[in-house]
Amino acid sequence: MNIILLGAPGSGKGTQSARLIERRDLQHLATGDILRAEIAAGSDLGGQAQKIMDAGELVCDQIVIAMIAKRLDDGGALFDGFPRTITQAEALDELLGVKGERIDYAILLEVTDEEIVKRMRARGRDDDREETIRRRLDVFARQTRPLIQYYEKQGTLRRIDGSGEVEAVTARIDRAIS
Ligand code: ADP
Repeated sequence: MNIILLGAPGSGKGTQSARLIERRDLQHLATGDILRAEIAAGSDLGGQAQKIMDAGELVCDQIVIAMIAKRLDDGGALFDGFPRTITQAEALDELLGVKGERIDYAILLEVTDEEIVKRMRARGRDDDREETIRRRLDVFARQTRPLIQYYEKQGTLRRIDGSGEVEAVTARIDRAIS
């Protein structure tokens, strides 16, 4: 099974992914985590990515697609923070297609902007400064929101209320994918 977690920054993708892979045999592929590991390792890629991430912009499609292509195993994955653009979504369909696989579910975590800003202020990661948060929400609206329609057309989109207790959100996702 291949699952995508879609949602604005701060909508809970990382938290829910960690919970979902605990109980399912899925490879966890989180592009944000991979990029932060590159930064921590001081790689060339990390150096390039840092400025872009700090500005709240998206790292270029070519780079993130290559990151996923290099790591993708057989047997099902949970994609967290990827795809974020239509180009990335098409590339992912292609990557899975050659293996005879497909996206089974695109889980959209729906949370209000107000709640997102509140959560991200509390989280306090490097790219969680007020100005960057606003930029990232804007980038989400322009570049990632079109994916909702993309997966709706494929029939894989599941809208999940991402508000409330972490456990309650996990239960909603479980119901949607079983
Ligand atoms: P969040 O979901 O809270 O925004 P992430 O860890 O998923 O956190 O992403 C942090 C940053 O990493 C993004 O703002 C972006 O700069 C970069 N990034 C992560 N995934 C991608 C991707 N698929 N395409 C382009 N940039 C990405």
